[in-house]
Amino acid sequence: MITTLHTEWTIGDICKGFQYNELEGKGLFGMNGKLTIQPEYQRNYLYAIEKKEAAVVESVMNGYPLGLIYFNKIGEDKYEVLDGQQRITSLGRYIEGKFDIQDGDGNIKSFDGLSPEEKKAFNEYPLTIYVCEGTEAEIKKWFKIINIVGIPLNDQELRNAVYSGPFVTAAKEVFSNSGNANVQKWSHYVSGNVMRQEYLERALEWVSGSEKESIDAYMSKHRFDTEIKLLKTYFDTVIDWVSKVFIDTDSSMRGREWGRLYEEYHKNAYDPDEVSAKVKELLADENVDNKGIYEYILGGCEDTKLLNIRIFDEKTKKAAYTKQTTDAKAKGISNCPLCALSDIDSQKTKMWQINEMDADHVTAWSKGGATDISNCQMLCKTHNRAKGNK
Ligand SMILES: [Zn+2]
Repeated sequence: MITTLHTEWTIGDICKGFQYNELEGKGLFGMNGKLTIQPEYQRNYLYAIEKKEAAVVESVMNGYPLGLIYFNKIGEDKYEVLDGQQRITSLGRYIEGKFDIQDGDGNIKSFDGLSPEEKKAFNEYPLTIYVCEGTEAEIKKWFKIINIVGIPLNDQELRNAVYSGPFVTAAKEVFSNSGNANVQKWSHYVSGNVMRQEYLERALEWVSGSEKESIDAYMSKHRFDTEIKLLKTYFDTVIDWVSKVFIDTDSSMRGREWGRLYEEYHKNAYDPDEVSAKVKELLADENVDNKGIYEYILGGCEDTKLLNIRIFDEKTKKAAYTKQTTDAKAKGISNCPLCALSDIDSQKTKMWQINEMDADHVTAWSKGGATDISNCQMLCKTHNRAKGNK
């Protein structure tokens, strides 16, 4: 791997012929077309907040350094931005008049409104750019490391880098395109951010899961495919199935493992009206964890573990009470562990009857604490009320 430091390139050089396409995933170019600012594996432009864009321009106006920028040399006089995409895009967009900044006195400063000297100084502002040349594996490994400094790539963004090619390009067109009219519908079932590749990740997870392989294996196998028919069809099939079985939508449906559930249950017949009534009943039950409702119903309403029920049953309460009371008697302290900590002697040793106590989750239910004997303690009613749902 060869790294060359360039300090002779200026903002003007880099932004020459700057092209910004509002459609996500489309190339942004600079250096008169020689520089790809947004390679297909890069995250989508994240500087949506103008403040950040303005800060880049203000840094230049004040003569502050913009930090290191990394290019990947992809051919004779052809480069790709590895790191620095957002800074370069901000500079290009400012020059194009996409946004203005304010000076210290609150005056609006557009690029076109700058004096010739100011424009010259801006264009001739030097950048510090490392150009790297190496094998794909070297570059990608390096990319992963330098990226830790910025906004870290999530798993799928990194996969898009590692398996970049026509398949990723085609898949992003569909699954990381906020202009896709289907995204609204999909958002009932899929969680995460479409622009951060999380919808694409779900689509890949589902189709690769149906073939019992990892997302990485799937992407590697299909890397040079020019179309994504199977990926798209499978995703649509899963979504169609879910929306037909569960005719109503609820926020608790978002982010469930629909791909796995489809594989396990799609051969079963369900009456959508019956299912709908059951979902409503369970959603109304505040002692049930809504996330588990769907698989519980698909599995024939048998596996109550899926509902992560909040209230302890009588048998569990009785067992916890008996054990606590026996232990407390041996130690000569109250069978309410919080009473035992009291400063008042009579309370320290108070023995409560079972009907004077309530069951409490040691690890809170809201924090994933189980509703079983391992996580059950009996508290006197006063202490249980005071503890609340902490
Ligand atoms: Zn107590």
